[in-house]
Amino acid sequence: MNADLHCHSTVSDGQLAPAEVARRAHANGVTLWALTDHDQLGGQQEARETAEALGMRYLAGVEISVTWAGRTVHVVGLNVDPQNQQLLDGLAATRDGRAARGEAIGEALAKVGIPNCYEGALRYVNDPKMISRTHFARYLVEAGLAQSTSDVFARYLGEGKPGFVGHRWSKLTDAMKWIREAGGEAIIAHPGRYTFTPTEFAALFDEFIELGGNAIEVVTGSHTPDQYREYADVARRYGFYASRGSDFHGAGEGRIDLGLLPPLPSDLKPVWERWL
Ligand code: AMP
Ligand code: MN
Ligand code: MN
Ligand code: MN
Repeated sequence: MNADLHCHSTVSDGQLAPAEVARRAHANGVTLWALTDHDQLGGQQEARETAEALGMRYLAGVEISVTWAGRTVHVVGLNVDPQNQQLLDGLAATRDGRAARGEAIGEALAKVGIPNCYEGALRYVNDPKMISRTHFARYLVEAGLAQSTSDVFARYLGEGKPGFVGHRWSKLTDAMKWIREAGGEAIIAHPGRYTFTPTEFAALFDEFIELGGNAIEVVTGSHTPDQYREYADVARRYGFYASRGSDFHGAGEGRIDLGLLPPLPSDLKPVWERWL
């Protein structure tokens, strides 16, 4: 089983259309796949149709942006019903405000002497309402202001950097409710990316469990190999199911391509077991 349960298409901040992501996953040996665009289910039908035509098993997915304790946390919902109205409405509300935030990011960057970034970023966006920091990052790289998208985050767009604009996403409790109502399973995405203290992490995991959560990503393109081990230990300690996903956004971006991650440690319980 080569499961890749986290990646993005042009429906959010990926570079390939859903069908192209499906073909790349298949070419790389993926056998169980989920497209998990940020706060959007618009690519699900194309993803499923292409995946199934290629003989891959498919799980409908989404990555929901959440604000928890004043910071951003991503929650992946897997095996959701992409027609569920409560989930669709919740995601629409979560997306709301991306355009205004995009303009504010443009203004913040103009203040440090980099003008016209909002307009520049828009050139990389499929749907202007979905504008994300990734689109700004691609523009800034193309404009020669940074070497890579991760360099852009380190210098301009990460928390505390001049182009960072705080934003209120959905609440953890709401995101979990939408996923549950849509028949899906919630997974804390790339926990190694959050700069929480041990106490804050414990509070996040405790609240997640109270809200019915029982899975985290362990092997993901957004973790280093050290973090695979660290979060495998967290999964063991809390009894969490473990997930695996590249967080692929496009060729040459990110640490790892679709399907090319190492397997989960063999003693962990894969989150996908329940769907096989
Ligand atoms: P946004 O939802 O607009 O805040 O953008 C978040 C997106 O930026 C994430 O989904 C990633 O695709 C990307 N991102 C966040 N941090 C980094 C980083 N350090 N390096 C590269 N991409 C990042
Ligand atoms: Mn992204
Ligand atoms: Mn994420
Ligand atoms: Mn992602």
